[in-house]
Amino acid sequence: MSAKAKVFIIYTGGTLGMMHRDANDSCSPLAPARWERLKKFVSFLKRLPVETVLYEMDPMDSSDINPDCWIDIARVIRDNYNDYSGFVVLHGTDTMAYGAAALSFLLENLGKPVIITGSQIPISEVRNDAMQNLASAIMFAVPYTFGLPIIPEVSIFFNNKLLRGNRAKKIDSCGYAGFVSCNYPVLADTAGNIFINERFVRKPAEKDFFISEKLEKEVFLFDIFPGITPEVIRYIFNIPNLKGAVLKTYGAGNAPTNESFLKEIEFAVNKKNLVIVNVTQCIYGGIKPSRYNAGAKLLSRGVISGADMTSEAALIKLMFLLGKGYEVETTKRLMQKNLRGEISAGDYP
Ligand code: ASP
Repeated sequence: MSAKAKVFIIYTGGTLGMMHRDANDSCSPLAPARWERLKKFVSFLKRLPVETVLYEMDPMDSSDINPDCWIDIARVIRDNYNDYSGFVVLHGTDTMAYGAAALSFLLENLGKPVIITGSQIPISEVRNDAMQNLASAIMFAVPYTFGLPIIPEVSIFFNNKLLRGNRAKKIDSCGYAGFVSCNYPVLADTAGNIFINERFVRKPAEKDFFISEKLEKEVFLFDIFPGITPEVIRYIFNIPNLKGAVLKTYGAGNAPTNESFLKEIEFAVNKKNLVIVNVTQCIYGGIKPSRYNAGAKLLSRGVISGADMTSEAALIKLMFLLGKGYEVETTKRLMQKNLRGEISAGDYP
């Protein structure tokens, strides 16, 4: 009998593994639980024709996660890379899109599936989306066992859909359909027959797998809003040690055109030497900064286009490139280049 395929599961916490703080009060807040307490709810895993190995990090609500945790996850994957067919990361949904983007950059030359999942309802509750998400994530992590093609990238499985991790965005705080894929087709759909969108799946890397181990934290992400004052903007750009910022602008990349606003942008780009990236506040469509005068002005002041990246992917990509220690000009160039399928090549300036 051939050996079973092996999947390595990394548990970081999130709703999937939460329980009510007061076991006798189902209205008490949910708090992360240790895997030991969840074992009886995941006994269905034994019925899968795969060998599962569980690695537990200190379980947390993903609102407590930070870049160091993602680097730890990347290290654990590196240390076990050769021994497993694929990896499943159980992660809270609140920051899952950031975590997925982070792993997509940190895991270099990836040739195996890394599937991130979680749920809106804990696995310990009778009615939940956790079992479905976990079982399906495992299937995609050991695809050959289930007659599926390999999807060798960092993806999110949620509510019958497999999404490219760095294209995902959480759009619902409680509904099962918690995530959408922004400006990119879903990689697979499992509602009924399993459909794999093979044309849109990344090819496995030919070079050797390795990981990057630094994400620069001295960055900022903020929304432009009607009435934002130049003082606030100057305050942000004057943050000591700040290296870059992602600006979430209106629609196709538009921002106020008054000189006092634009002067602060010029100050950030030319005097502070910051990398400023423009992405849209919208879920879909990305930015086209030369479409309107209000976007073109930012472009002419040295703000670079984040094209159709999500704000999550743009922020993490900025952390990643700055973490590599690249010069400002190189960082700006690479921000606009497709590294992991996070940005579309197109008519973006
Ligand atoms: N607050 C939870 C978390 O992000 C939400 C979830 O997992 O769905 O950890």
